[in-house]
Amino acid sequence: MSIGNNIQLAIELLNSNKLVAIPTETVYGLAANAFNESAVLSIYKTKNRPQFNPLIIHSNSIERFEQWGLQIPKQVKLLANKFWPGPLTFIIPANNKVPDIVTAGTGAVAIRVPNHPVTLSLLEQLSFPLAAPSANPSGFISPTSAQHVENQLGDKIDYILDGGVCQVGVESTIISFLENEPKILRFGGLAIEEIEEVLGHRLITNITSNKIVAPGMLTKHYAPNHPLFLVDDIFKATEGKDMNRVGVITFYQSVNDIPEANQFVLSKSKDLNEAASKLFAVMRNIDELDIDEIYAEKFPNTGLGYAINDRLKRASIQE
Ligand code: AMP
Ligand code: MG
Repeated sequence: MSIGNNIQLAIELLNSNKLVAIPTETVYGLAANAFNESAVLSIYKTKNRPQFNPLIIHSNSIERFEQWGLQIPKQVKLLANKFWPGPLTFIIPANNKVPDIVTAGTGAVAIRVPNHPVTLSLLEQLSFPLAAPSANPSGFISPTSAQHVENQLGDKIDYILDGGVCQVGVESTIISFLENEPKILRFGGLAIEEIEEVLGHRLITNITSNKIVAPGMLTKHYAPNHPLFLVDDIFKATEGKDMNRVGVITFYQSVNDIPEANQFVLSKSKDLNEAASKLFAVMRNIDELDIDEIYAEKFPNTGLGYAINDRLKRASIQE
């Protein structure tokens, strides 16, 4: 295994149904030829991902998905024209070109055009879409740099295409278009408010961040080794604790008495996009400290705050 920026090598490997980790603006993906069952099967094996949890397929334009025979609903076209390439995934009816192993037998497929120059160039040169879940062992923190991928899966994959640090830093927002009304399945890197503005109606009214029903999104995820508590009031929650033994993740403020090294402020300027981009790297760093517990404060439920709260909530589930 090696890390590099050789797109031609990535193409050769993918053409021979090997796995390549690819950069995107959200997180690094573990990619394989989506039309080849055995290549896709090795994604599941490598990640130890349950096969009932379907994969997103990626290409470089909406037209290519159409060329593969997928019927793109009108509203999807509207949103794709506005937000692709970008951190937005659509669930639409699949066709028989998409293997069951990609859709987990649901008859529906998730499609996305990621916004990263290296990966767009790669996708353009391939004759198939790439199935690519996040490049981490199932249940752990998603990678936002090539080094994160190397640390977790380096010995299991043929090549890591290095595209630098992921700019958005949380996974894509997922919307299902299988029913009459579009439905949010996952809060992610594109703010719901922006989508609502284009659709001309609210999406968020019927959903709360702990009621997402994408398969595989219901259990513990992004699991740190230390217990993580998601709290309303970080000051109250840490009161009376041995300050040397706790780590804190906050939005913009620091918590007096806790050693500097144990504090991770995600955005001093209160920018939720900046906070999201740092979240996963911070979760990795804080987990390496010699502490007993991690406390994270709830973020505002607006913009990328929904996605941040969702990831912290999953990280906080104790099994
Ligand atoms: P990951 O790429 O690791 O972020 O995971 C992809 C996410 O997309 C998972 O939460 C899947 O459950 C969801 N997903 C992918 N395909 C489908 C589908 N056909 N129907 C519903 N959800 C899907
Ligand atoms: Mg994932």
